[in-house]
Amino acid sequence: MVEGINERAQSMTTCIFCQIVEGTAPSSKVYEDEVCLAFMDIQPVNPGHVLVIPKVHSNDLSDLPPQIGAHLFQVAQRIALSLPATDLKNEGIDLFLAHGAAAGQDVFHVHLHMIPRYKGDGFGFTFGPNYENLPERTELDANAVQIKQGLSN
Ligand code: AMP
Ligand code: ZN
Repeated sequence: MVEGINERAQSMTTCIFCQIVEGTAPSSKVYEDEVCLAFMDIQPVNPGHVLVIPKVHSNDLSDLPPQIGAHLFQVAQRIALSLPATDLKNEGIDLFLAHGAAAGQDVFHVHLHMIPRYKGDGFGFTFGPNYENLPERTELDANAVQIKQGLSN
């Protein structure tokens, strides 16, 4: 238990997003309240790429309080709906959250990406070789059963 607290304290001092929250690292802020902060991504996929983060350090979804997750999404929704009023090119917007290194998470302080999108911007997911082969309904049902069982545990 005590170890867990120490680990969290250490990750907060070394975490770049905690430093942004504390004001010891620079950021271009878009929005701030008691719970969250939104700022410009330093390496934008497209101009206007925003990150929405909780102020309290959470590594990923596993230690993010659900009410804070809900708040992050509400703030992202507000920002998304405000984008058309800007000069930033945005025909659409992707919200993306990487949970875990295999999912592309590089910074282990939860962050919701908001990426303005437009036709021909060159960004997109790369699909695996089996993507075009739709699974049988039995496989979808079996996967659904597993996930439902996980939910009820
Ligand atoms: P992810 O790969 O989902 O963990 O995304 C991490 C994101 O954080 C990347 O898009 C980075 O460009 C962004 N990032 C890393 N350091 C900073 C920083 N100091 N300020 C703003 N964005 C950052
Ligand atoms: Zn942090």
